[in-house]
Amino acid sequence: NATLAELDPEIAAVLEGELVRQRETLEMIASENFVPRAVLQAQGSVLTNKYAEGYPGRRYYGGCEEVDIAENLAIERVKSLFGAGYANVQPHSGATANAAVLHALATPGDTILGLSLAHGGHLTHGMKINFSGKLYDVAAYEVDAQTHRIDYDALRAKAIESQPRVIIAGWSAYPRHLDFEAFRSIADEVGALLWTDMAHFAGLVAAGLHPNPVPYSDVVSSTVHKTLGGPRSGVILARDEEPWGKKLNSAVFPGQQGGPLMHVIAAKAVAFKIAAGEAFKDRQARTLEGAQIIANRLNAADVAAAGVSVLTGGTDVHLVLVDLRSSPLDGQQAEDLLHTAGITVNRNAVPFDPRPPRVTSGLRIGTPALATRGFGAEEFTEVADIIATALIGGAATDVEALHARVDRLTADFPLYDGLTQ
Ligand code: PLP
Repeated sequence: NATLAELDPEIAAVLEGELVRQRETLEMIASENFVPRAVLQAQGSVLTNKYAEGYPGRRYYGGCEEVDIAENLAIERVKSLFGAGYANVQPHSGATANAAVLHALATPGDTILGLSLAHGGHLTHGMKINFSGKLYDVAAYEVDAQTHRIDYDALRAKAIESQPRVIIAGWSAYPRHLDFEAFRSIADEVGALLWTDMAHFAGLVAAGLHPNPVPYSDVVSSTVHKTLGGPRSGVILARDEEPWGKKLNSAVFPGQQGGPLMHVIAAKAVAFKIAAGEAFKDRQARTLEGAQIIANRLNAADVAAAGVSVLTGGTDVHLVLVDLRSSPLDGQQAEDLLHTAGITVNRNAVPFDPRPPRVTSGLRIGTPALATRGFGAEEFTEVADIIATALIGGAATDVEALHARVDRLTADFPLYDGLTQ
């Protein structure tokens, strides 16, 4: 019964070090968030000990009476959150949820049509060396070279040409709403199924601040840990149980996975409960407001003069894509510069990027974690100016002065008060 610090001081030091890092920096990776203490508690619980292959009431193991309650709560809560008639809460991650969706909807060799990875799509939407690119015949649509938005006429032409079994709506890096009605009508026109991957924007949907893809899509998948703010994991939804529910369930288990992670499923139930509340709505509203404040600051003349611009000119969601194609800084340099000032972001390829994927000409800057930390318009205005100052200053930036401004913000908004690791 030794504590972690007694048993494994090296790993205890990693946990402590990471807690300090999260407390003392500004976390702006668009796919990250801070889970509430209640989620940490559920996830670090004795439920990790339980095997529960199967589904509630139909398990292949005894002793599942308690975990059945947790899984049923998670299912009912997420269905009500998104207006879905079907939910599977067992996927270990977004990628395994997506693998199960394709397993259920398509047969290897079928054509799938998703947003190209280089234009903001995800690995599981058809990248060459991902399972999706290896098992399926991939056609990809792109954003328009001028507007950097999805051109629905071009998407329609691509769908007619490639005759996909599945059209994928969804992205990892795209700053605008998707037109789900247009996706639905194109899918219907070519006789394709529509799968929406709302991993990034699910929290905004739950708060009613983004169009809901559930009514338009045959199947919707999501992660739970990005804007939704829950444990690292995935979920699959559909309008109704029919016609895909049984196939999706069997694609998750036994198709993709063995025993579900019941501690994570309990933590998902907690996160879905939180996401139905008013405080969550307020947090998502601040997430959006923060992204707009950052986009506006980075659209200003002093930033433009440094060759830095905002892709699509702004944002409808929780992230801003910064275009560095005309800046002396590349994506790697900009990421490193902000890192030394205490701000964590990730470099990201922009569409038609002339630089290689390891370097890139872009940054993806997200606001969910800072909104969870409590930031509002005043703090996001300060963050936006710190970022703008760094991108204008480049190698000549007074990084220490910026770090001092970051320190003031992190000190004013304590994170996980009282937690020691
Ligand atoms: N789908 C989209 C659109 C994503 O952006 C991501 C993660 O970045 C995933 C799926 C995969 O989620 P995970 O990292 O949990 O496998």
